[in-house]
Amino acid sequence: MYADVIVDITHEKLDKIFQYSIPENLKNNLVIGSKVLIPFGKGNKLIQGYVIGLGEKTSYDPTKIKEIHALSEEGINPSEKLIRLAAWIREEYGGTMIAALKTVLPIKKKEKEKEVKKVTLRVSKEEGVKLLEELLGKNQRARVRVLSLLLDQKEWDHKTLLTKAQVSLEVLRSMEKMGILSMQTTRVYRKVLPEGAVGKQEIHLNEEQEKIMQTFRRDRQESTRKTYLIHGITGSGKTQIYMEMIDEVVKEGKQAILLIPEISLTYQVVGKFQNRFKERVAILNSKLSPGERWDQMERVRQKEVDVMIGPRSALFTPFENLGLIVIDEEHEPTYKSEQVPRYHAREVAIQRAKEEGAGVVLGSATPSLDSYYKAMQGEYSLMQIDKRATKSKLAEVEIVDMTKELKEGNRSILSDRLKELIEDRLEKKEQVMLFLNRRGYAGFISCRACGYVVKCPHCDVSLSYHKKSGKLICHYCGYEQENVHTCPECGSPYIGGFKAGTQQVEELIQKKFPTARVLRMDMDTTRKKHSYEEILKVFDEQKADILIGTQMIVKGHDFPKVTLVGILAADMSLYGNDYRAGERTFQLLTQAAGRAGRGVDGGEVVIQTYSPEHYSIELAAKQDYLGFYKKEMEFRRMLSYPPVENMMAVLMTGSDEEKLMVAAKYLKEFVFLLKNIEKHQVIGPAPPYIGKLKDTYRQVIYIRSESNNELIHIKDKMEEYIDINKGFQELYIQFDFNPLNA
Ligand code: ADP
Ligand code: ZN
Ligand code: ZN
Repeated sequence: MYADVIVDITHEKLDKIFQYSIPENLKNNLVIGSKVLIPFGKGNKLIQGYVIGLGEKTSYDPTKIKEIHALSEEGINPSEKLIRLAAWIREEYGGTMIAALKTVLPIKKKEKEKEVKKVTLRVSKEEGVKLLEELLGKNQRARVRVLSLLLDQKEWDHKTLLTKAQVSLEVLRSMEKMGILSMQTTRVYRKVLPEGAVGKQEIHLNEEQEKIMQTFRRDRQESTRKTYLIHGITGSGKTQIYMEMIDEVVKEGKQAILLIPEISLTYQVVGKFQNRFKERVAILNSKLSPGERWDQMERVRQKEVDVMIGPRSALFTPFENLGLIVIDEEHEPTYKSEQVPRYHAREVAIQRAKEEGAGVVLGSATPSLDSYYKAMQGEYSLMQIDKRATKSKLAEVEIVDMTKELKEGNRSILSDRLKELIEDRLEKKEQVMLFLNRRGYAGFISCRACGYVVKCPHCDVSLSYHKKSGKLICHYCGYEQENVHTCPECGSPYIGGFKAGTQQVEELIQKKFPTARVLRMDMDTTRKKHSYEEILKVFDEQKADILIGTQMIVKGHDFPKVTLVGILAADMSLYGNDYRAGERTFQLLTQAAGRAGRGVDGGEVVIQTYSPEHYSIELAAKQDYLGFYKKEMEFRRMLSYPPVENMMAVLMTGSDEEKLMVAAKYLKEFVFLLKNIEKHQVIGPAPPYIGKLKDTYRQVIYIRSESNNELIHIKDKMEEYIDINKGFQELYIQFDFNPLNA
């Protein structure tokens, strides 16, 4: 018997299968997925590896094949299914097999189990009381304290008892020997779920929700496993539908995964799911300690969990009988990995579901163009909800033209109109959310007097200011020009980059409204483990009037008392230097607007902008998704951007700038020489937005093609070429399909 092993070293040259023979003592417990220790290289150093295949034949000389040393202790074994998924990821997105394998293992190392000792009184009450007197007589105070506590309450966990009685473990041990108490060690899971989820009233599905469920059930009865795209406006009750669908699957004895884009959403979503599925819910998120993550997975392996809720990595929860994967807010860029392999959770979810016979549900009020396009092509099945689930109406949206404010002498980042409305809400004791749009901020140059933005004449994306050269550069094609100091459109000197942070907004608000209770949620205020929950809880309980934040306050939250949402600098994301800027802006504004007026009081939204006529802003104000989709698709068609065509970025990094430039040119030439070149288009090389990072230089080449398979093919060829050519040796090359943050 031979084992195919992937070594746990990330290096292109070692990205292949090594065969090992299996020693007698391991024959019965070695499986596909086992983590093993193997002798490797000339010195036969022991390293870790994963078994990804077993077979009886080898094409090497059997006498030269080395033997597996042992099973690795610290291993977590990926299942065969997940190994196959890893192989798919490797092929689809590039990178090494070991990197792909680690991707499908959300936990790589065993953690210590948490244990508690249960201390129980072993004598009867009467005997206990007698004993107590004896001990008092002997002046054994420590034992007296323990015993009286045990007489009050028969059972304790040992830690609590130790603190309450102010004694050491030795005291308990001695009392155990005396037969007064017993200690029993049991394994417990570290607690991560919020306690005491409130039992809200039961919700009956409305007509729209019920219709969707009927389709879903009918498809399941016919054993059709589809990918659904639920396009439901903000507040249309999508979460309720997810729960209903998951319930359906769980009743059949299967499990479900719910992906949510942001840790700040956990608090509300998990509460709802706990109400429904009680303790059969597990969560993953970036704030959990390794031990807590381990315990959540342990619960999955012990089959104590039906629903896993978490970010991208939760997709790889090793459920044995997966029935459904739901991706909430499917348009969010956090679903795309920023590390190699740069996979998209949506695509991987669909692949996993296909392999395991599960369904996929994508949901959003503002679907990604990619998904909506696929729905239009019939690849996904579209479900639509146009009404809010509660009686509330969508909020009224007002656009405030900041160039006008400037003309009228108001240079503050708060418009007069927004100030007026905030005052009104404070008087009425209603709540306000202020959202500072910083996403996509990439050093673009715009005019505050007329809204003009400096763009690339070839690619129609904004140019970015590069500090080092002082020039404006396009990150797709490399076009560059001198920086400008007066507006080419109107001659105003108010042209430049936009600088304002949430902290400045907070200071400004505090100064203008000294009695208001203000909360701020951004990277700085959420570093601690429970800070998200704490801030959101305070706001939820209406112990604050104004919540100021970045995009993390935009998504999903359901605060019925919020009647005003202010969006500052709506343009910021509009001129991010990539082709998705318009889409991202539309999504952010629509989502932000969707936070207002979810309760009975109705709501208003103020969008402050320097480009009031931009279609992304106008259509977001009208909350007109379809209008936006049509308009944006025209632009994508015209310039052959995704989803019309597919795009692959080849990102090259190196410490020697000149070598890097030469290699980039060679690589581009190589692509030109490939067959069928007329089918694809090569752009660049150009420096990406961050052209130099930590003393390494970066260059990127974009390749566009109608067919994604064609791009994958080109990637394979490039990988071969890079592998055999010395010129690429000191460079690091990554592939990124349909990049999100170019
Ligand atoms: P979405 O995720 O679509 O933005 P939510 O699921 O947060 O919407 O639902 C918005 C609000 O509507 C929530 O407060 C939810 O409890 C409520 N809701 C959902 N479905 C119903 C229903 N069928 N009847 C009454 N209220 C509902
Ligand atoms: Zn101008
Ligand atoms: Zn360009």
